[in-house]
Order: sequence, then C-alpha cells, then structure tokens
Amino acid sequence: MSLIVKKFGGTSVGSIERIQNVARLALKAQKKGDKVVVVVSAMAGETNRLVGLAKKVNPIPDSRDYDLLLASGEQAAVGLVSLALNTLKPFSGRGFLGYQVGIYTDSVYSKARIYKINTQVLKKEIAKGVIPVIAGFQGMDLENNITTLGRGGSDTSAVAIAIALGAQVCEIYTDVDGVFTSDPRVCPEARKISHISYEEMMELAGLGAKVLQIRSVELAAKFNMPIHVRSSFHTGEGTMVVSKKLLGGLEKVVVSGIASDSAQVKFSLQNVPDRPGMAAGIFGALAKAAIDVDIIVQDIPTAGKLSLSFTVSGTDQLKAARVLKKIGGAVRIVQEKDLAKVSIVGVGMQHHPGVAAKMFELLARAQINIKLITTSEIKISCLIDGALEKKAVRVLHRGFGLG
Ligand code: ADP
Ligand code: ASP
Ligand code: MG
Repeated sequence: MSLIVKKFGGTSVGSIERIQNVARLALKAQKKGDKVVVVVSAMAGETNRLVGLAKKVNPIPDSRDYDLLLASGEQAAVGLVSLALNTLKPFSGRGFLGYQVGIYTDSVYSKARIYKINTQVLKKEIAKGVIPVIAGFQGMDLENNITTLGRGGSDTSAVAIAIALGAQVCEIYTDVDGVFTSDPRVCPEARKISHISYEEMMELAGLGAKVLQIRSVELAAKFNMPIHVRSSFHTGEGTMVVSKKLLGGLEKVVVSGIASDSAQVKFSLQNVPDRPGMAAGIFGALAKAAIDVDIIVQDIPTAGKLSLSFTVSGTDQLKAARVLKKIGGAVRIVQEKDLAKVSIVGVGMQHHPGVAAKMFELLARAQINIKLITTSEIKISCLIDGALEKKAVRVLHRGFGLG
C-alpha cells in the first residue's frame, strides 16, 4: 500500500461541482488501496480578492496580519472539501489548518519557509482510514503567528507533507494537463512535456512558469520526491518532474522551454560612489526587508561614480522604494515599471554556442528591444517592455522549434 499526497489548486476547487470532483478523486484512490492525503489551495480568485481588500485598507500592510488574512482563503476550501468527502460514506475526511498538523515555519511573513512538520497527528488519522484534508500555503511560527509561504505556496506545502510522510509521489492537480514548453494560455502551440528534470523545472518555475512554485521543486529535488503535475479534469498522464538520472537523452534538447514573468520593475541607481561596500549596503538593506532582487547590472564607473540597475517583482516595488530612499547622498533613483522578463531554459544550451545570439536575433526581428540581459548555464533571460511579453514568448517558442 502506498501513500499519495494529492494537491488541488484554486481552479480545481473553484466551484461546488469541482469540490465534489476532488472528493471523488480522493476516494477513488483510497478504494484502489492507496493511503491518501489531500492538500488544497483557496478557491480560484479568493487569495487575489483578499489581497485587494488588504490594499484598500493599507497599501503596505502589516506583514503579520496580512498573512493572517491571506491564509483564510484556504480554510474555507478545506472545510468544503472535507464536508464533501463526508457525504460519500463510509469514507471520511477531516479538515486541518496548517498549525493543526504541526506545519512550523520561520517568521518571514508572506515568504515563510517550512522547517518542520510534526507528522504525529497525520499518521494517526491515516492509520484510522481518514483522508486528511490540509490547508496549503500556511503554517505557524514559534510565536503562534499564522504565516504564509508566498503566492503559489500550496505546492510547497504539498511537497513538504509528502516528504515528511514518506509518500511515493506528490500529485499536483491543476487546470492544465501538465508542464508545457511554454504557458499554454500564452502560446497555443505549446507542447506537454512528459518528463522534466528538477533542474529545468526549477529554472522554468523561477522564471515565471507558475504551474509549480519554485520552492516546491527545490524541496522535491533535495529529497528526491517525484512530482506528477496533472489535470484535475481528466485522468490522463501529466508531467513527471524527476531527477536527471532518470532521464535519458535529455542533453540532446538545447532549449526545452520558454518562461515569462510579468510585472517586473527596474530600479536604476545613478551617481553611486564607486567604493567598496556600496553594493553590499544597498543589497543588504533590500535582503533585510525580504525583497528578492533579480537581474543586477553594474556599469563601468566614470569620475568615481557608477550606475547600478536591478529588477524586483512589482509586488515589492513600494517596499523597495522605501528601503532605497534611505541611501541618501547624491544617488538618484529611477524606476521603470510594467516590464517583463522572457527566458529560454534548457540543460543542453551550455554546450551549444550561439543560443544567446539566436535569442537576441529573434527578438530583434520582432522589433522587441532588450533592456537588460542575464544568463546562467541553463537559461538566458531578457527584460523587455511588458506589453510585448506574449509576442516575445510566441516568437521564441517558434524560433527554437518547440511547437
Ligand atoms: P493552481 O491554481 O492549480 O495552483 P496555477 O494557476 O498556480 O494553478 O498554475 C497553473 C497555470 O500555470 C496554468 O493555468 C498556466 O497558465 C500556467 N503556466 C505557466 N507556464 C506554464 C507551463 N510552462 N506549463 C504549464 N502551465 C503553465
Ligand atoms: N492560494 C494561494 C495563492 O493564490 C496559494 C496557492 O494557490 O498555492 O497564491
Ligand atoms: Mg499554483
């Protein structure tokens, strides 16, 4: 008998019919002889609704109570799924909030990291034949504060629970059939990928493919937990995210996917004194405020001054501006918003020269201007005007022959 963690995203619990479908899927697996644990997100649109409400009350909300508010979406979904399960006797479901099954996190609100899951409660329930239905996205810190794991964080909850319970697989049920060569909603030619390595999935997720939260993939890779991304609307196979060792011939593919991330903001700091400790001071202050900085470019200094550009996500813009204002001196801060980052990803590209040149040429031919560039061994990202994001994704998808 194996244990399977099944996580259902917002659309998959987005209506009463879909909630009943989740209950049926969980029972079907249990009837087959598997032990089942269900993790759910808030109903589609609910977390965004809560974010909107919070912003109306306070544009930069108090992090603790912001998390308290945002975590409430999952509570409703858990209650509904569990109630639905209990109509299908003789099986029974039991709903739990994060803290009730001992999901402990640090206190970095809105980006909390799980450091421990106390599995006793869950193991007891599973042994009784109960299907635990657990609220994703949330946990509790050492001072009993409710924390959340960042947008899309239910994926990370599910993988962490799967690892803690020694599950055979973590199934992520969502509103597309699996992981595609690009967002199928942006690029109709996108193809479903049957298997993908943790490394590539991490890059895709980190670069904006929100089908999996990046931290869920990092965690899965660390503990070798297979993830099966699949549709909650039919039973077909989705995408297996597994270790590179299990994938033969992967290296042959040069570019395996295109990702994009909208709502990026570029900060340019001009007149920055060219002396040791400047960058450490600026980025240290941003890190202290838990702001993730992405592409960083530093220009060659002239007359002892240099300019420094970097990007942050739009959600961190106000916070970052507040931190940067404290630098003072003659430093001038310029902000450019509504930008997008488009990226190509593939483990094969490190041994194929000319991939970057081809990307730049494809963008140039489509009249898309590049504002910043960043590369790693297996990805190249370009910052462009946000209005051109979809066009860029399609041009690159076709240009690299992914359709
Ligand atoms: P859930 O609510 O189930 O967690 P999400 O909205 O978080 O679902 O993630 C699923 C969405 O991810 C899809 O609807 C799709 O538009 C988007 N997506 C972006 N990139 C990809 C990709 N490469 N493959 C599949 N889906 C992608
Ligand atoms: N409900 C949360 C969100 O919308 C968590 C999740 O969906 O995974 O970000
Ligand atoms: Mg999601």
